[in-house]
Amino acid sequence: MPTLLVKNIEHLATFDDARREIKGGALLVRDNVIVRVGTTTELAGTVADRVLDLSGHIVMPGMVNTHHHMYQNLTRVMVQDDDLFVWLTTLYPIWAELDDEAIYASARVAMAELIQSGCTTSSDHLYVLPNNCRIDSEIRAAQEIGMRFHAARGAMSRGQSQGGLPPDSCVEKEDAILKDAERLIHEFHDPDRHAMNRIVLAPCSPFSVTPGLMKEAAQLARSHKGVHLHSHLAEDLDEETYCDRVYGTRSVDFAASVGWLGPDVWFAHAIFLNDREISLFAETGAGMTHCPSANMRCGQGIAKIRQMIDAGVRVGLGVDGSASNDTSNMFLEARLAQMLQRVAPARYLSETPGGRGGFGGSPKALSAREALEMATRGGASLLGRDDIGYLAPGMSADFIAIRLNQLGLSGTQRDPLAALIMCGPFRVDYSFINGHEVIARGAFTGLDIDDVLACHQKVMARIYRQ
Ligand SMILES: [Zn+2]
Repeated sequence: MPTLLVKNIEHLATFDDARREIKGGALLVRDNVIVRVGTTTELAGTVADRVLDLSGHIVMPGMVNTHHHMYQNLTRVMVQDDDLFVWLTTLYPIWAELDDEAIYASARVAMAELIQSGCTTSSDHLYVLPNNCRIDSEIRAAQEIGMRFHAARGAMSRGQSQGGLPPDSCVEKEDAILKDAERLIHEFHDPDRHAMNRIVLAPCSPFSVTPGLMKEAAQLARSHKGVHLHSHLAEDLDEETYCDRVYGTRSVDFAASVGWLGPDVWFAHAIFLNDREISLFAETGAGMTHCPSANMRCGQGIAKIRQMIDAGVRVGLGVDGSASNDTSNMFLEARLAQMLQRVAPARYLSETPGGRGGFGGSPKALSAREALEMATRGGASLLGRDDIGYLAPGMSADFIAIRLNQLGLSGTQRDPLAALIMCGPFRVDYSFINGHEVIARGAFTGLDIDDVLACHQKVMARIYRQ
């Protein structure tokens, strides 16, 4: 088994249980697993097949993206100024043209963007599967690129004729959805440590599937080790109104009624949770993915991240779909999580003579380290992983390095880790995933970006001809 010694790391942020940050750090990797972490002095004398000197670099765990819709990079910058339900109903007919080539091409663009911005593990929630296309195309892209990938088999089954939001041309039959989910679990799901592929069951939202599908998906997932559940929840006020009208409950109560609150469930957004529902998430172990870019882009609101962390809710980060972000950059998402939480209304301004002038937040609402922890350990926890999210012996060799001697990082020697988001975002100079060097000296080692872009353009030309 080949060994790799990474030494002379200027700042090694491990995010381990002690949150150690090591000056002059070193890592020893055997095959795909980290076997030693310490200072370069402590690891002196170690013999390795390859030695990589990362003087002048900061190293941290690869980030974990827990919510995305990669196919949406075919419809970026559309419906810029409308509410979510208008945004969706405008885009559904275009998405109805998707096929396997489109899914593969868009996944390659999204994964390349993610890896370049520090992500080494991603989930993708693919819920529009028209024209007999399959999520297998994304899994193939991830396997070729070498990205750790949790494929969330999404689904919509409640078309307009059944009182749902999507057109009937975008929805599938429920028995076919469940049959395909079972096929995917048998074909691709690996429950073991260091797995590169897992399957997630992910009906799209309360307004696009039936309660029956939610229940059956939960039952299917729970009959297989390590198959988790994911969906959107409490993303938009229109969704709350829909749940009240159709189910007579709030969205969280709807989730509870179909067995969707538990440690094997995580939701994207969870903006409109009240105190009782935040406690319910903490008690049941249900997790949430914060997607600040999309929440800001769509004007939906600010999730109560500070309150959720303090209550013990598991919180991760997600870039969300490329039609509502419109990028796939994890460093940017961590930066925006930090900034957005600070402007969340915490108090009235001008509580002095003269009256209340508006709302104000607090610079203590979320620190840079907390935002980066959501992007690493937090995301790993949501995906049910005990082998990624921090750097320690026995963990998967997923780590990134950024060169400190560059314009945007100059002057940050006092705290280069916080600088990665407070001065960023930056591109990575090295990315190792499962021990494989995917990016070296700022360039992909095995991915032809010109080809990735050309394939994407070809699909774009076809879809927009419709
Ligand atoms: Zn989403």
